[in-house]
Amino acid sequence: MAQIIVKNLRKDFGNFTAVKSSSFTIEDGEFFMLLGPSGCGKTTTLRMIAGLELPTEGEVYIDGEEVSGLRASERDIAFVFQMFALYPHMNVRQNISYPLKSQGMPKAQIKARVAEVAGILGISDLLNKPVSGLSGGDRQRVALGRAIVREPKAFMMDEPLGALDAEFRGHMSEELRALHDQMGATTVYVTHDQLEAMQMGDKIVVMNQGSVEQFGVPQEIYDWPASLFVADFIGSPSMNFLHFNGSVAEGDSHIQLDGQRFDIPALLEGASGDLVFGVRPEHVSLDDESRYRGGVIATEYLGTTQIITIESPNGVLKARIPATQTVEEGESVGLNFSSLNITLFDKSTGAALLSQANKGVLDHG
Ligand code: ATP
Repeated sequence: MAQIIVKNLRKDFGNFTAVKSSSFTIEDGEFFMLLGPSGCGKTTTLRMIAGLELPTEGEVYIDGEEVSGLRASERDIAFVFQMFALYPHMNVRQNISYPLKSQGMPKAQIKARVAEVAGILGISDLLNKPVSGLSGGDRQRVALGRAIVREPKAFMMDEPLGALDAEFRGHMSEELRALHDQMGATTVYVTHDQLEAMQMGDKIVVMNQGSVEQFGVPQEIYDWPASLFVADFIGSPSMNFLHFNGSVAEGDSHIQLDGQRFDIPALLEGASGDLVFGVRPEHVSLDDESRYRGGVIATEYLGTTQIITIESPNGVLKARIPATQTVEEGESVGLNFSSLNITLFDKSTGAALLSQANKGVLDHG
């Protein structure tokens, strides 16, 4: 299996730059997510790693060897696409065997390997069935079987579950992750679904308009978004943003919102200018003692929690609170924020002021 290094990768199509100087490292055995909205350059990045697209600039290394100029067939990588690209005239066994047959592997060895892969995927009883009659999930399992059967250095998956309905998609994503844990193969997975990326990925690269916005483990990206874009894109509902123009004095670690004092992480002292105050809905609480008040404009019951939408003096925000708490639309409520979970952003650049570099210093409760 393989470590993959992407260094200053750039791709121009004519005078349009689809990927701008991207760099990240995918460690051996990682399940690695390329996440971002439609058109941000995820597929182009994946295709450059795989050798289906040549970079305009930059390098790709697989296991320490530069492969930037090598063709896809020379990189020992397998693909799984959204559309289950199976051979319709072949049965399941023939579809899975195909890559091994092309390599000239002896028949007995192919038989044993296909049986092993079918066992891993739970499709042993389908081996002699035509692929035309299979369900979407089974077709995807066969496609996976064809990809894993020849034990490549790495897997490239481009929205492989995109064609499945929501419920089955959740089930298949668990299966795929379990399969990965069993095989330990380096996997690069493209998705625009932040929840899928958070649930499945060991690490995530968040892309926006051709650039890497942030790169890290899911919790780091959720807790310490590097930019307004990441904070907004990750999480559902996304982070609340309250705009205020102010400053935090040196040696001080609180801000004033509408006359109410709020503690903030000590590392934010000295921040000033046109700032954006960011706090996730689960870190907003209702507090009768607080003079910072807002009017409830909507409530959404979700079983164990509820999402309350509140018009505050600095803008509309959402709070995720226990479903057992009674709140009426139109009611005025006092608001409080979990001080260690507050993030400040520079409004003009969108960058988080509390960078990832110093996050370890905090007890992030
Ligand atoms: P999606 O999820 O919609 O596929 P993506 O993040 O994977 O989005 P890409 O497919 O990498 O995005 O495309 C990035 C940008 O590059 C898009 O604006 C797309 O139109 C453009 N693009 C991709 N391939 C080509 C091409 N061969 N020629 C010209 N433009 C291209």
